[in-house]
Amino acid sequence: MSKNKLVIFLILLALIAIAVVVIKSVYFSSDHDEQQFYSMDTIIDIKVWGENSKSVTQSIIQEVNRLSTIFDDYSQSSEVYKINSHAGVDPVIVSQETSEIFQIAKSYYYKTNGAFNVMISPIARLWGFKGGEFRVPTEEKINEALELTDISDLEISGDTVFLKKKGEAVDLGGIAKGYALDKIYEILKMSKAKSALINFGGSVLTYGTPDGGVWKIGVKNPRGEGVSGILKITGDKFISTSGDYERFFIQDGTRYCHIFDPSTGLPAKKIVSVTVVGDKGYLTDILSTAFFVLGKENSIKLSENMGVEILGFDNELEFFATKWSSENFEKR
Ligand code: ADP
Ligand code: MG
Repeated sequence: MSKNKLVIFLILLALIAIAVVVIKSVYFSSDHDEQQFYSMDTIIDIKVWGENSKSVTQSIIQEVNRLSTIFDDYSQSSEVYKINSHAGVDPVIVSQETSEIFQIAKSYYYKTNGAFNVMISPIARLWGFKGGEFRVPTEEKINEALELTDISDLEISGDTVFLKKKGEAVDLGGIAKGYALDKIYEILKMSKAKSALINFGGSVLTYGTPDGGVWKIGVKNPRGEGVSGILKITGDKFISTSGDYERFFIQDGTRYCHIFDPSTGLPAKKIVSVTVVGDKGYLTDILSTAFFVLGKENSIKLSENMGVEILGFDNELEFFATKWSSENFEKR
């Protein structure tokens, strides 16, 4: 081989080597994709394994951003903002999804004996959880705000939603993340993804089977660093946790959290955290909020009728759980 030919040969060899590396990296990146982004007032972590994983994660991000523009009660262009600003004035024409989520929300007011109330917003606002400063309101103010939380004032009819009294307001904070996970689940089922793990600000969807066969979901320690244990999950499940340790303030030694007991207008304080495992995102999200209000005994009782499993920690940090949960929870 002449010197020139050798040089050309070596260049070709180098080009082939580069091509192989590129092909390999393209292959790997389409087999697994991870994205983290901020929407709906929280951080969302997406991990997808399988063919076209990158386009699957992109579809998920688009879908969450779309839902956020409809449901975000802080954004003036959202349907929820419009419903609240038209309270006591006139019904608002909404999308099929908004009508559906309010129908679900209203029906679970009755199914949870009033513990889940999507009209809690005036109370949350009064305590400073909707912007402004945290404060402990007077009893009089609390009673005034409670007057604006009557669920029968939420009228859903065809494609309109109407709040009958001025000052009333709805807040999807206790259901929207779970509902969004249901939409993500639909995307995954239509895709070629093999498995996925979505963490939507503490509400989790496990999809398919991971390496090793079991998903290991950490449940946060409600009073300290790290996790209190690991929940072992197989297949497609929704896991939602509500606790008093994410958003709260402490005044004169008392902790006031962001989940309210709709019967008193005070922050719920029967337990410190509860985790719900089930087959629908909206259901586990609603129920974790409702069970946090209802406390240990009532939640265990209600969970049986609702077809979900639960575990949690009471105010003494004592563990409680349904049978399935205690068998599948590894304490740390
Ligand atoms: P997080 O959103 O912190 O994960 P949750 O799913 O329990 O926790 O939802 C809490 C949110 O739900 C609050 O920030 C508030 O917007 C709303 N909320 C508070 N109390 C209630 C209640 N009793 N019923 C329905 N929604 C509630
Ligand atoms: Mg919830």
